[in-house]
Amino acid sequence: MIALSLADVAAATGAAPAGPVDPSALITAVTADSRQVGPGSLFVALPGERVDGRDFVPAAVGAGALAALTAAAVDGAPCLVVADPLAAFGAIARRVVEGGVAGGLQVVGVTGSQGKTSTKDLLAAILESAGPTVAPVGNLNNELGLPLTVARVEPDTRFLVAEMGARGIGHIAYLCDICPPVVGVELNVGHAHVGEFGGQAQIARAKSELVAALPAAGTAVLNYDDPYVWGMRAVTSARVLAFSAAGPPTHEDAVWATDVSLDDLGRPRFTLHARFAGAAENTAEVGLRLVGRHHIANATAAAGAALALGLGLDQVADALSGATARSRWRMELTERADGLVVLNDSYNANPESMAAALDALAELGRRRPGATTWALLGDMLELGDEAAAGHDALGRRVAEAGIDRLIAVGAFAETVVGGARASGLDADRAYAAADKAAMLARVLADAQPGDIVLVKASRGLALDTVAADLLTAD
Ligand code: ATP
Ligand code: MG
Repeated sequence: MIALSLADVAAATGAAPAGPVDPSALITAVTADSRQVGPGSLFVALPGERVDGRDFVPAAVGAGALAALTAAAVDGAPCLVVADPLAAFGAIARRVVEGGVAGGLQVVGVTGSQGKTSTKDLLAAILESAGPTVAPVGNLNNELGLPLTVARVEPDTRFLVAEMGARGIGHIAYLCDICPPVVGVELNVGHAHVGEFGGQAQIARAKSELVAALPAAGTAVLNYDDPYVWGMRAVTSARVLAFSAAGPPTHEDAVWATDVSLDDLGRPRFTLHARFAGAAENTAEVGLRLVGRHHIANATAAAGAALALGLGLDQVADALSGATARSRWRMELTERADGLVVLNDSYNANPESMAAALDALAELGRRRPGATTWALLGDMLELGDEAAAGHDALGRRVAEAGIDRLIAVGAFAETVVGGARASGLDADRAYAAADKAAMLARVLADAQPGDIVLVKASRGLALDTVAADLLTAD
């Protein structure tokens, strides 16, 4: 981390020192997990639902923490006392980012209803080819994950990729405040967490806080194919770069894909075009190592951000073509020794990502004549009032996509199966399982070598266990 003295930390957070605090001591790491504390750390003692971080302050100090950031002093320990340790951690992140930017760091924010982590991983792979890059591991995209990521920025870090998730209005504005981006990527506005937001227009408003926060000298990388996102050009003073998975946008600065094809494993190949910053149009070939057409949008978005940061198109295309999956359970394709293919997309689910995964499954099925396609689906949580209709539509989509077999599990399993039957899937091919064990037993009983099995649901259903059992079962 870019080192800060405890005096700097106190100044950034308004903290009151308590106990044996050495203001000149330099902290080189910040963590909220006492097990990760090492010499030179600042320990953020967060109040939790079950445990209070303050209970771990003595252990953290014993492990080398120079101080604890805490809501109340702990006897005998060096403490920086603040009203809200999490907000104070945000203020520290802001100080670190400011230090980084002064030394040449550039920050990219990535938001959208789906594809944030995938795009973040692709963009990190591209930027790493140009200089030291920090990006969150996995899904650290909220008011705690972002400061934890920022705490990994070193003096020589050139690029920081910040995944920005929102569960309500003001969340992304806050993340942009603690980690101000110069490039902002807006992927899409779907129905993820729509129950909490209260409608898609609200989701669009929340997501638009990223581009609203960009400086005039920055770049807003906007999805030309998503009307909600494209409409966000009204709220940004930054230069707008359009990206499209569906051919050339009618906008001067743009990145887009043409000549899309899929390889045997459903991995997209395409020609990447860029017309940017007054230069002539350029093209380069890309062959992704990720499964599913939806990654074309993610890849063109990542390309747009990298171009905005000054990278060349050939370098971008090469890095995209070399990038492998970094985050688990997103369209993870594994072939069993007997030829059964498992597509583990069990990380999360909402209507749009279900549709993307079902399309990818259907495409794979068409590429493997004779293979039966299986959709093992669980509930999409957090759809609020839209839940019943959303699950009925999911079942219909299964049938319309031409998927051969459906096994649903969860509170809405019957609704999904009902939708599929109503749209023409034979009753004996759509089955509501009582639980995950029944789901697994059913597919193991009927699937043949060469079949393709998609496993997908919201995280709460933890269908990754079904995918794992499927891979290890005899
Ligand atoms: P979260 O909100 O949980 O952080 P995320 O936005 O980071 O999600 P990813 O983790 O990249 O999204 O992808 C989650 C799932 O969404 C994937 O498994 C895939 O099925 C789907 N997905 C990814 N990108 C897209 C896209 N551009 N359009 C539609 N679906 C997508
Ligand atoms: Mg994510």
